[in-house]
Amino acid sequence: MLIDSHTHIGCIDYKVGKNKVFTLAGEDLIAAMKKYSVDYALVSSIEGAEFDTNGRLAPVDKQVPQLQSFKNLLQFIRNNGDSLKALLWIKPYTEKTTAALEEFITENRKYIAGFKMHPSLSRIKFTDHRFRPYLDLARRFAMPVQVHTENDGFSNAEYVADIACVYTDIDFVVVHMGLNTDNKEAIDIIRNHDNIYGDTCEVKHENVIRAIEECGSQKILFGTDAVVHGIDTYVRYLPLIKLIRKTFSKEEADNVLLKNSQRLFKVNL
Ligand SMILES: [Zn+2]
Repeated sequence: MLIDSHTHIGCIDYKVGKNKVFTLAGEDLIAAMKKYSVDYALVSSIEGAEFDTNGRLAPVDKQVPQLQSFKNLLQFIRNNGDSLKALLWIKPYTEKTTAALEEFITENRKYIAGFKMHPSLSRIKFTDHRFRPYLDLARRFAMPVQVHTENDGFSNAEYVADIACVYTDIDFVVVHMGLNTDNKEAIDIIRNHDNIYGDTCEVKHENVIRAIEECGSQKILFGTDAVVHGIDTYVRYLPLIKLIRKTFSKEEADNVLLKNSQRLFKVNL
């Protein structure tokens, strides 16, 4: 059994992120999961990206409104049985929380695992007040928050630590454990905060092993960014899965590859 806690779909009219993606077909994610025996995935939509690859705010007529992107994502999830749950990628730069959003979450709670927050692609520092209404919503609905982390002045892992000390009742997953860093700072933060977790996405294998050793197997989640690198995104992760199973006990490996996601995101398999 394998759960991928970090995947993406979505179609927009501009390229986003370092991988310059704009079309990630839901069918490709389903095909990838089948091909590589991934049993379940938490998925967010890149339609939530407000700024493009070049750091430019996407024009209004090209932005997909927050609630619309959530509706698109849920439509996809409902069409694909019991193997997916949503992470709602919010748009705090161009939008706000609304009564309609709350109503949407209430009505669709069983399909929603939590929020996705991407300070780099919203170009807002994670400690900025504009994230607060969304964090309040996460608290109210008891939903975990997946946060992109990278040392760029927006998404630094230390900012997540600051917020996690205020929102002690929310669980945070610092994905990438500090992209383009040696992961050391993020690993220290995960170890020192009960409500902060890390994921394996784009992290060097040796650092994943170190993170599990230092933080404990209950603090690290398997995640990949599929299908940002296509249907065969998982080819990059097969050696990591093997290494985790070889290095740790079955129970510890299962925590990372399956159980932590199940517990945090309330996945019933
Ligand atoms: Zn991602």
